[in-house]
Amino acid sequence: MEELTPTAQTEEVNVCNTCASEFFVHTSKMKNICPECAHLIYNHKRCFHKFENERCSKCYWNGKTSAYALKLKQKALKKQKNARINVLIGIIFTAISLIQSLSGLLFGGISYWGLFGLLIFIPFLMRSIQYKKQLDKEYNIL
Ligand SMILES: [Zn+2]
Ligand SMILES: [Zn+2]
Repeated sequence: MEELTPTAQTEEVNVCNTCASEFFVHTSKMKNICPECAHLIYNHKRCFHKFENERCSKCYWNGKTSAYALKLKQKALKKQKNARINVLIGIIFTAISLIQSLSGLLFGGISYWGLFGLLIFIPFLMRSIQYKKQLDKEYNIL
């Protein structure tokens, strides 16, 4: 058994059944799961940890994420990364199509490739931005 800090003696402490860290019961929405795991797995409000002596002084979490929670976090980060790449692709191709259309007009014609590109990549860009926003809201890991 680890020695508890003075604050831990005045707070009700429970052990997280996912990462096995002790945590202050009142800081988590879930009785047997610490705020960190509850955030990663169940998307509850996170604790913005403040580490003192290798423990968060707010929720008493020990900073050791379980393999399961870590895997979920990595998956979430990967999804967010892919979403960001899609937005970037959307921006680049929309810009190229726009330039094509404009230069088409400049030379007195209509660039069908440019218009075709705009028709495809503007909706693609909109969808990508929306998806990215949705992910950011969902995971709230920034
Ligand atoms: Zn935990
Ligand atoms: Zn904390």
